This record gives sequence, structure tokens and C-alpha cells, in this order.
Amino acid sequence: MSNNFDVVIIGGGHNALIASCYLAKAGLSVAILEKNDSLGGATVSQKVFPEYEARLSRYSYLVSLLPDKIVSDLGLKFETIERSVSSFTPENFEDKSLGLLITRGLVGQTKSDFKAITNSDSELQAWEAFYADVQRLADVIAPTMLSKLPTRSELKARVNHKIWDEIIEEPLGKVLEARFDNDLVRGIVLTDGLIGTFSDATDLVANICFLYHLIGNGTGDWKVPRGGMGALVAELVELSQSLGVKFVLNSEVTNIENSSGIFTTKNKSESFTSKYLLANLAPGKLANIMGTKPPKTLDGSQVKVNMLLTKLPRLKCGTDPKLAFAGTFHFDERYSDFTRAFKEAAAGKIPSRIPAEMYCHTLSDLSILGEDLIEKGYQTLTLFGIHTPASLFEADNKASKAIILERLLAQLNEYLLDPIESCLAKNSDGSLCIEIKSPLDLDEEIGLPRGNIFHKDLSMPFREDNDMPSWGVETQIPNLFLCGAGAIRGGGVSGIPGHNAAAAVLEAQGK
Ligand SMILES: Cc1cc2nc3c(=O)[nH]c(=O)nc-3n(C[C@H](O)[C@H](O)[C@H](O)COP(=O)(O)OP(=O)(O)OC[C@H]3O[C@@H](n4cnc5c(N)ncnc54)[C@H](O)[C@@H]3O)c2cc1C
Repeated sequence: MSNNFDVVIIGGGHNALIASCYLAKAGLSVAILEKNDSLGGATVSQKVFPEYEARLSRYSYLVSLLPDKIVSDLGLKFETIERSVSSFTPENFEDKSLGLLITRGLVGQTKSDFKAITNSDSELQAWEAFYADVQRLADVIAPTMLSKLPTRSELKARVNHKIWDEIIEEPLGKVLEARFDNDLVRGIVLTDGLIGTFSDATDLVANICFLYHLIGNGTGDWKVPRGGMGALVAELVELSQSLGVKFVLNSEVTNIENSSGIFTTKNKSESFTSKYLLANLAPGKLANIMGTKPPKTLDGSQVKVNMLLTKLPRLKCGTDPKLAFAGTFHFDERYSDFTRAFKEAAAGKIPSRIPAEMYCHTLSDLSILGEDLIEKGYQTLTLFGIHTPASLFEADNKASKAIILERLLAQLNEYLLDPIESCLAKNSDGSLCIEIKSPLDLDEEIGLPRGNIFHKDLSMPFREDNDMPSWGVETQIPNLFLCGAGAIRGGGVSGIPGHNAAAAVLEAQGK
């Protein structure tokens, strides 16, 4: 069979699959070369505990940034489920345990919880006012994500509100300190700026991370993928297969040549030629293959813990676990916790308290469990621990993971009546159904440079006024485009760079 294609894509993450669908629909021949034995990259569901029929979203878990337009353009049957609870945060005081439940629309218990935790009505009002202003950014920016990059001035003029300066120009910490008084409330807001970003609140990289967390589809709602992340991949694989896309698995690309406008892309045993080359792998990994300088990229700084439970733990504050775990469950994510943890980690120490958040997929969607587990009431939990950069794992990955896991569970247990260990399912050898992934594991398994979940540092979703018009996917080399999280407006499960890379190829083709 000929190994000559119109487009070769290196890496088989969801963005590669989305690009391949758009390109193949336009009549181009496409091959995807993936180093692993399956497709999906960071967007997969796997049977993490082989003895149990539970398909967990092993890496990414919630969806917000995937534009509805991509789903409808491609006719995907993929669905996401809204969560009625946005978040829950337990807090222990000397004499009592309380919780802050934040529901969509800020109804029901939210008002009284804000009052009990903050001793005032003003924090809830500040919360409402802040997020109403942030909505102005989402309204303007979200509709531009599948077009060429707008300029900074264009967007600023369209937003035409002080929130532009607060989120785009000034450090996030400054606005949070000005708008909120309470340490816990400030911390809950800041979380969106620090997930996957090793920074404190004074660096603009936190603003960019925050922005991407709040603008998805114009609402910033984070939804549960029905069937887990693997359901998205399965839909895309089926579609691209039906369109004739060739998948080459176990195919780690190690060499790229470009001569007379033709790319030759090689794995260990085969060569593929193409006029266009799309890089779904991280820009730093592409640079390693091409022998060029990798872009400056922060270390990945999170741990991901996957768990299978026989039941949800009860909470000291008395909130029903089915409510508390229905949204994002934050613990030790006070503003001061983030500041301290960042300082400690930057000094080379495992944070004394690791800011963390969790989410329970099965409260929204049981379809990831086998019938037997559903009947027995099993649940899944995923934990994302922040400010644990790759450098902390270098000396001994296994030992650091063990210390961090123990610390996280001890912290969590401070808020629980039932210790989490007593709720975890067990394997037949007696071990608990829990796994932890470090940034170094993510590099090894799915090629995220030092575990950076966004492939490289995120960029603002616009170009400077004097920059050339672009899709945000172009590289120094003509006809070589980024089609992964490392593109401008990449990062997250969005398909946006996949769509935009396909658009750049079709534009270059004059289509
Ligand atoms: C633990 C974790 C949790 C996350 N949580 C969320 C979340 O809840 N919501 C969200 O929106 N985002 C989340 N993210 C981020 C999101 O998953 C990624 O940004 C996104 O999936 C990237 O998709 P991609 O298609 O661009 O690339 P990837 O999914 O990274 O795929 C790149 C592919 O390239 C392959 N590859 C690498 N090198 C080579 C090579 N030399 N040759 C061939 N193939 C190669 C890799 O094996 C991989 O399959 C999370 C990420 C992680 C790691």
C-alpha cells in the first residue's frame, strides 16, 4: 500500500481525530501516526482496575471548551451532561465543620452557606457581580474560537468593560484581592487559574488559564461526558474510519524531513510522505524530533488520582455526599493554601498541604460502570492535586507519588466521617483500587512535556495588533501546522486546534 497522503498527522489525540474528520470530509487523504497502541491521547477511558468493569476517564474528565459547532458539523452523537451543583467546599472551624455548596443559578442552600462560611452577605454579591462581568468576556471571545485570531484591540473594544483590564492585563491576584474578602472564596475562584499551571496569582499565565476555564461555549460550564472521555474518542474514530482515514498505531515518529515541499515522516520501520504535516504532539516534542529549540514551557504541576469506591464517604459537615460530590469538590484550596503550596513547591518541597479537587463521574452518569457494579452502588472519584511540579518527582517518582498520595488522603479525611480508605474497592490481592499519575508518568505515557497538560504554556486567544493574520496553528515551516493543545487557543478537550489546523490546510489548498 502507498504511504503517500495529502496530510500526515503525528499523534492520535482527539484534536488529530477532529482535524482528520474535517480534512477527509473535504476529500483529502489523511494518515494518523500514533506512538501508543490506541488513539485518544489524554482523552481516553480505560479499565484502570482490570478486575472491575469500570471505564474511567483516566486523564481528562470534564468538557467545557468543545464548541457545539464541532459536534454538529461532524454529526457526533457525543453528549455532555450538565451538573446542577457547580462546587462544594468543606471547611473545618475550631468548633464546627461547614460546607459551601455552590449550585447553578446560586439557588437553594448556596445563600445560607455563603453567609455561614463568610459571616456576611457581601461575598455572595461579590461572586455574582464578578462572574456576571466575566460572562462579558465569554460572550465576546467564545464565538471567535473557530475563526482566524482576532486582534487584541478588536476584542478589547468589543468587551468595552473594566473586566478586560482585570482579567487580560492585570495579575489575577490583584482583582481577586480587590473583589473578595474571604480566603476560601478567593481560593475557589483562583483554582481555575492554577489547574495545570505552576504559578502563583501574580503571574499572567494564571490569568490565561483562568480565562480558558470560563469561556467554553460562551458559558464556561464544565459538563460530564456521557460514557466518559472514551465516548468522544470512539465517536471520532468511527467517523474518521468511515471517511477513510488511515490509523498507524505503535508508530512513534522519530524523524521528519522536508525537501522540495514534501514531508517525509518516519517511525522505526516505515516512511510516510505528504504535502501537509500536522503536529498533534506537543511543540516541545516536535522540536526534539526536528532538532530545533523547544518553546519555553512550564513544568506540569498536578497529580491525578483515580479511584473506584464501594460507596461515597459521609462528610463531617453533614452535607449529603450525593450533593457534595455532584459538582467539583474542593479541599485545601484557600487563597493562602495556594500561595503557601506554590512557595514550598518552587523551593523544591512537597507542599505541606496540597490544594486539591475531586469529581464523581458516576453521580451524573452510570454508563461507565458494568451492571453488577451499578447494582452494588459503586462510584468513581477522580482527584486533581495542584502545585506538585515535575521536579518533585525527579529523584524518585514512585516514592514522591507515595508521599503525595498519603498526604492527600490524610487531608481529605480531615473533612470526612468515613475515612476514604474504608470506601475504596479492593482488588483480589487486598490492594485498594486507587492509582496516582505524576507529571513524569504523563510525559512517559502520552508525551506531555514534563507533564504539562496543555502541551505548552497557554496563550491569550488573540493576536497582537501588528501580527500577521493567522489561525494560531502556523509554524516557521510552510505547510507544517500545530493541531494539538500547543496551538494558540489549544489546551483542554476542545477540538479547536484540530478544527483550526484543518481550516489552515484547506485555506492553503485554496478550498
Ligand atoms: C490528568 C489530566 C487531566 C485533564 N483534565 C482535563 C479536563 O477535565 N478537561 C479538559 O478540557 N482538559 C483536561 N486536560 C487537558 C486535555 O486532556 C488536553 O489538553 C487535551 O486532551 C490535548 O489533546 P490533543 O489531541 O491536543 O493531544 P494529546 O491528547 O496530548 O495527544 C497527543 C498524542 O500524540 C502522541 N504522540 C506523542 N509523541 C508522539 C510521537 N513522537 N509519535 C507519534 N505519536 C506521538 C501521544 O501518544 C498522544 O496520543 C487534562 C489533561 C490531563 C493530562
